[in-house]
Amino acid sequence: MRRQRPTLIAVSTLIAVTLTTAAPTPATAAPPDQVTALTAHQADGYTTLAWQPVDGATDYQIERTPVDADDTPTGQPTIVGIWRPNRQINQQTPTFADAGYHPGDTFQWRVRARTGTTEQPYSDPVTATTTAPWGNPDTPGENLRTQWETTHAAQYTSDTDEYAYTAAIDTLSDRVRVVELGRTVQNRPINMLVIGHPTPPATPAAVAATAPVAINCNVHGNEPGDREACLIMARQLAFSTDPRITDLLSHTTVLIVPTINGDGRANNTRGNSTGQDLNRDYSLIRQTETTAYIRMVRDYRPVAGYDGHEFGNSRAGDLPMLPPRHQNVAQPIFDQSQDMIEGHMYTKGAEAGWWACPYGCEGGGNVGLSEETILRNTLGLKNVTNSLLELRSSGGQTRPDEGNTANNRRRKTYSALWTFQQFLDYHRADRADILNARAEAIETQAANTGRLVFRGSRPIPAHPAPHPGDSPPPLDPPPADLILDTPPCAYKLTDAQYNGTRTDGPGGVGTTVAHRIAAHGWKVITIGDDHYVPLNQPERGLIPLLLDTLGVEKLTDGERVHPTLTGRRNGPLTVTGFTCADDATINGPVTVRAGAALVTTNTTISGPLTATGAAGILLADSTINGPVRLTNTTDTISIIDATIAGPTDLSGNTTGTDTPVLAGTTIRGPLNCTGNNPTPHNLGIANTVNGPRTNQCAAL
Ligand SMILES: [Zn+2]
Repeated sequence: MRRQRPTLIAVSTLIAVTLTTAAPTPATAAPPDQVTALTAHQADGYTTLAWQPVDGATDYQIERTPVDADDTPTGQPTIVGIWRPNRQINQQTPTFADAGYHPGDTFQWRVRARTGTTEQPYSDPVTATTTAPWGNPDTPGENLRTQWETTHAAQYTSDTDEYAYTAAIDTLSDRVRVVELGRTVQNRPINMLVIGHPTPPATPAAVAATAPVAINCNVHGNEPGDREACLIMARQLAFSTDPRITDLLSHTTVLIVPTINGDGRANNTRGNSTGQDLNRDYSLIRQTETTAYIRMVRDYRPVAGYDGHEFGNSRAGDLPMLPPRHQNVAQPIFDQSQDMIEGHMYTKGAEAGWWACPYGCEGGGNVGLSEETILRNTLGLKNVTNSLLELRSSGGQTRPDEGNTANNRRRKTYSALWTFQQFLDYHRADRADILNARAEAIETQAANTGRLVFRGSRPIPAHPAPHPGDSPPPLDPPPADLILDTPPCAYKLTDAQYNGTRTDGPGGVGTTVAHRIAAHGWKVITIGDDHYVPLNQPERGLIPLLLDTLGVEKLTDGERVHPTLTGRRNGPLTVTGFTCADDATINGPVTVRAGAALVTTNTTISGPLTATGAAGILLADSTINGPVRLTNTTDTISIIDATIAGPTDLSGNTTGTDTPVLAGTTIRGPLNCTGNNPTPHNLGIANTVNGPRTNQCAAL
């Protein structure tokens, strides 16, 4: 029955402007306030409903009715969804991802507009059978199911069921290798699935060469929704013959850590067994679990990441997300992460019907800030494009049928599955941009220019309402007393600071600062009893947060070391001790004595640079007009974004656990590397060499 259009339309921004000129309605047409052209597209655990918008609609109600094969209702019609204008960026093609039902069941859907509180006529119904849980029940591997799936979301997958399930995937799929990253405090394995096509690369370094992506599924033990999605996705990646999947896995390696906090998951607690919130520990790495993850980042070098959570704000969107905001994160990493969230996820969410939005969202409170202890920020400070993902815990006003626990759990998990699959598509499509952002970020960080802040976030710009981005998190500017305008060249730690026993780990066991710096992968130079951590390296934004006296959650109070060589200097230079050059021009040959170290930024050296038996050589954003010959170095070598006009030779450097770095550098002459242990690498940033590259540097 046609209803009268209400005279008061008021606040909606969707009002049509030509009410007085509407043509008479043909007898066969739908009433103008009735939703038309409703379609239902089936996907993994959800159904995308789409329809023609109704002029003047305030919102829409989505009704779902279970039906049998004859389209006869087997249950009551239920309002399962409310579409609101801030749900998506393109409101002229409204969509809603209906989820929570048991996948494989058959339903009838109708949608109606509301103008104000007035309900308009329902659309014609559409009926469809939803997509069954992924994997042919008769095909080995595909037919694996998690405990969560077999119990219809009544139970979460237990620790032992997870181990059995992932081991079965490992056994049945050539694409998957399960590696143990470490153990929890209570000795549960922390497993990671390494997934590639046709097989995953054999070593962490080989994986790193594929620009891998990493998903951390469950850091807060009482937020298990993402973990179930990760386990389902692992099965899809392992066994799917979909060309999209094999294409994805042929171009990168997917790293999935289902349960970093196994003790917290087993006990359904936020923290680990010691009560530590692990997502406040990724920089300090006091805990075994966070240490395992940070070592993984060091060794596998993911270029992009997602970190899965749940969020208790019932007014939020389905999928609050947030980039690394700490102001020490390089701008290209922030920009790329925002592009992933607002460029990709908002756009694809508007197509699939999922409501992505900034973490915080409406009434979200003081969340999403700059603590570098949070993985989102830690990864950003490690030059990883990444996002937080917060599944909205409750159904809230827009999903009124989630008083049913299983419905609520399924909606969350399948929204996470959609997000993680989209994350893989984004990486596939934007890989070159992600790698460019990473290269620019590493070169920017290594140049050690600009202020350091110890807390403080970049703003997340609001979008004009109604828009998914119309309620961003708080501004969070850095306080004046937590800004250091002139960065030091390095931090000097005493041996007691560096190697002294600590008591900030679980059970009083502790690890040393040396262990934690090694887990982060930072370069250190030891001269006598002093240990120097230079800032002209890729994680320059993170180092001061742990070693400067202004650090809010620091490891120790390192001594700031400022450059001693600046400005113009004529004549030969012999370097002894720890020498730092910044913004300097050295007209003459430079010789670094055995046991000494040279650290340069924005510096030009005219003449050969020669070091024999030096402790360390770290050159960034610098020019050497002459040959460079580094031999028998003992601690560390790093050459990033340099220009060398002359032959370059790295030979016989034995730097222990430190891998020499030669990245983003232009060499006008031949490059030779011989007898170095470990072999130099380029951080994934190609060098330009106008001459032959030989021996260990042949592929650099
Ligand atoms: Zn969380």
